[in-house]
Amino acid sequence: MRPEELLCPTPDGLWCPLGGFHIDPVRPVARALITHGHADHARPGHQAVMATRETLRIMAERYGAGFAGSEAVAPLGEAMRIGDVTVSFHAAGHVLGSAQIAVEAKGMRIVASGDYKRRRDPTCAPFEPVQCDVFITEATFGLPVFRHPDDTNEIHKLLASLAAFPERAHLVGAYALGKAQRVIKRLREEGYDRTIYIHGALERLCRLYAEEGIDLGPLEQATVEAGRKSGSGVDFAGAVVVGPPSAFADRWARRFPDPVSCFASGWMSIRQRAKQRGVELPLIISDHCDWAELTETIAEISPAEVWVTHGREEALVRWCELAGIRARPLHMVGYEDEAE
Ligand SMILES: [Zn+2]
Repeated sequence: MRPEELLCPTPDGLWCPLGGFHIDPVRPVARALITHGHADHARPGHQAVMATRETLRIMAERYGAGFAGSEAVAPLGEAMRIGDVTVSFHAAGHVLGSAQIAVEAKGMRIVASGDYKRRRDPTCAPFEPVQCDVFITEATFGLPVFRHPDDTNEIHKLLASLAAFPERAHLVGAYALGKAQRVIKRLREEGYDRTIYIHGALERLCRLYAEEGIDLGPLEQATVEAGRKSGSGVDFAGAVVVGPPSAFADRWARRFPDPVSCFASGWMSIRQRAKQRGVELPLIISDHCDWAELTETIAEISPAEVWVTHGREEALVRWCELAGIRARPLHMVGYEDEAE
């Protein structure tokens, strides 16, 4: 059997004809297997959805109960029969509930990794390498120039700025699912125990993380009233305020006097991007692999073939070929990598 007969890239997403399902489809389909809760991978309107328990919770939180005709929980590591194939979900280390999906038939196994990273993240289970014939990977940061620093450095930069500017609020832009909770949790691990203020859009996901056992410490919504009692005379003076990147362009951000604008993203390693966004304190914290993590992961799994879904595909395909691994770019569209 050719691998394309087991899993086939289509404009709707990866399609498994033997199992009758799509993985992370970009349009509503009959049966969808979902790797994780980010909006570009987990869309509403499918007839049947299978995902980890946490991802199903995240989808229900974002889209409302009844976001799909039916839901099935995929426990990590458990082999399940769908049509003529066996599927299993394995931790991806990207955000809470994120999973790789292994699809197997007639002695061939393909792993669709979704989004993943290899760094420690106290808010989700670590990536599990799964042996396979074909490994499907993204390449958001698939160029040798991308080397994400240790996130401890970045959290310490934020703490140092708080100490240096105790009269200014520190506004931290962070993607609402995963990044925001990881930044908050890492601040707690580094000893920051004051109330952290959050944008309303983060409230429900932060509560969901807390209910899943990830203690984020004292959080409060960054309302006008909260601001009044937060500082000594000045609203939110010396406070950490976390919000989704989109909130920083609207009126919400103007309630903070003379804020230090921070943004937590893998893209912050590009100085010009930070400048364009008016970011004073870039924090290079990524939920994706950098170049070394991508190539080390492929070397560790050592598949016969690699498919690269999206991102900077050509460099990674070339690296695979030089390493003696067959590789092809899939040029899949609909998977957004800018916000993370
Ligand atoms: Zn993602």
